[in-house]
Amino acid sequence: MRPRLVAQALGALLLVSGCASTSTMQMGLLPHGQKLVTLVVSEDREVVDRECASVAATGRLLGCHLWRRVTLPGGPDVRLITIVRYTDSLPSALALEIDVHELCHAIASLQPIPDPCHTDNGGAIKAAAHTHPRWHSSRSSIENTHAPDHPSASSTGTR
Ligand SMILES: [Zn+2]
Repeated sequence: MRPRLVAQALGALLLVSGCASTSTMQMGLLPHGQKLVTLVVSEDREVVDRECASVAATGRLLGCHLWRRVTLPGGPDVRLITIVRYTDSLPSALALEIDVHELCHAIASLQPIPDPCHTDNGGAIKAAAHTHPRWHSSRSSIENTHAPDHPSASSTGTR
């Protein structure tokens, strides 16, 4: 097969099979080495079906949340949360990182542990290293409550 025909065949195959992708990110490093939150965003409904198979529901799911309880060394029980959701368009790496970070704070605030959501990234958005955005504003009373020693708080950042 000539190279041109090979390229056309591959292009046709991509059109037929689609390009459904999945992005996964974890955040909130806990003392036992696992992450508090896992976010799975997929354009592939079969991924959602598979990840959410243990969830009792009628009809086809577009997302779910799963959890499992772990006991931290010498500490309280914590729920590790996995959120799975379908999307018609994957978020950028920046948007995904912001989503999982804010989910991490929300989930941590409901559990009997110190907020771990800056333990693995210092509160900085790694996906946007060139622009140096920050997660939170130092004006945020919430931020001051859960991370009083936040080293990278900035009055010009996002919350
Ligand atoms: Zn934060």
